[in-house]
Amino acid sequence: MDLFAYRHGELHAEDVPVRAIAERVGTPCYIYSQGTLESHYDRLIEAFAPIHPLVCYSIKSCPNLSVLKVLHDRGAGMDVVSGGELFRARSAGVEGSRCVYAGVGKTDEEIRYAIREGVGSGNGVATGLFNCESEEEFENLARIARDERAVVRVALRINPDVDPKTHRYTSTGKKETKFGVDLERARRFFVLYGRDAYAKLEGLHLHIGSPVYTTDPYREALTKTAKLVDELATDGITIRSIDLGGGFGADYESAQSPPLKQYADAILPLALPLHERGIQFILEPGRTIVANAGILLVKVLYTKTSGEKRFIICDAGMNALLRPSHYGSFHFIWPVEPGEAMIPARRTLDPNLPNTATQDVVGPLCESGDFLALDRTLPANIKRGDLLAVFTAGAYGMSMANRYNSSVLPAEVLVNGSAASLVRTRENFSSLIEHELTTSPISLDCAAREVCGVHAS
Ligand SMILES: *Cc1c(COP(=O)(O)O)cnc(C)c1O
Repeated sequence: MDLFAYRHGELHAEDVPVRAIAERVGTPCYIYSQGTLESHYDRLIEAFAPIHPLVCYSIKSCPNLSVLKVLHDRGAGMDVVSGGELFRARSAGVEGSRCVYAGVGKTDEEIRYAIREGVGSGNGVATGLFNCESEEEFENLARIARDERAVVRVALRINPDVDPKTHRYTSTGKKETKFGVDLERARRFFVLYGRDAYAKLEGLHLHIGSPVYTTDPYREALTKTAKLVDELATDGITIRSIDLGGGFGADYESAQSPPLKQYADAILPLALPLHERGIQFILEPGRTIVANAGILLVKVLYTKTSGEKRFIICDAGMNALLRPSHYGSFHFIWPVEPGEAMIPARRTLDPNLPNTATQDVVGPLCESGDFLALDRTLPANIKRGDLLAVFTAGAYGMSMANRYNSSVLPAEVLVNGSAASLVRTRENFSSLIEHELTTSPISLDCAAREVCGVHAS
């Protein structure tokens, strides 16, 4: 599942003792394992080899440039959902034509930037598209493409109305969510816009939610998609690509998620006949690649008991890792040096070891919602100064970290074998006020509005 393991009584990231990293860069810090990233990516490619998909890594799950570079070197394209993410992809050396660009609220400025960077400009073999989410967006995209004298390839994001049985906030393929257009409207969409000379509508895109721990929702969604492909064919419209989105699970608890091969075994029988008809497949995994490839390292500042309850107060909470408080997510937490008798065999709610107690692991912020775990079974002897590892924190960890209470963003370290590299320095107090103006009256000049390096018009 990953290359974070206890050796000689202490936690290692690949061959590097985690304590050594804490001593050099301090806490809180994120530590990523390059070997884990690579092996997850390779396993995905292997599992889906029969349909040769373009794998576009979902940048929003963990956007550090070094992580993007590792996956780009492996051959990955990128899934971006904003101009800022496209800028990251380009900065990591990924061609714009190898990016897919989704999102319900693309601005004119972002669309123009993406066209100029080559999104949708590829020839269809292992290249990405604009993933369009509404009629108004399509008309705007076609207008800007014409204005730029560019021909761009576009996929329509469809909403297949399937229930991925995941958290309400990360369920994205049901009718009542804001994503894509429903199947009834999809057919009309192609009839209406399928002949545009600048925005070439030729693909279907879906992303049903995340994490999806069963394979049935994918089968249901792809079945509906295949039916739409056939209906469109009767309208004289040829679909050239299908993007199945992301959402494959990760092991927050040991063996919680089906192996990638199991997702592939469920999807391939439906996808192969489409592939054989010349349809190019795209996947947009984030979590399944990077979640188990990262841990968050925090330090215990204090412990205290209030009534029956024991609190472990750490140097980071919802500012560094929002998922527990935002989604009620479970992350396994354990000391970096628990002692030989206390090494957990499995990452689970109760690892069934002696000398434990139920405790809350909380952060320093001024909110009761600031926690990493509630009522958790942990060693009873955790004390001030101990290091704790929060596991499976690679996805939606640093990418959702924030500066609430004027906290500074954590450092990030990438480990490869016995080498550890600092890939993002910890912010300092100056970072907090960098963009604030204390003296001048508000000035509304154009320069202040320019974001993507191109002017909106
Ligand atoms: C977030 C997202 C993904 C990635 O989801 P994971 O669960 O991290 O695999 C893929 N595609 C789109 C459009 C997304 O919004």
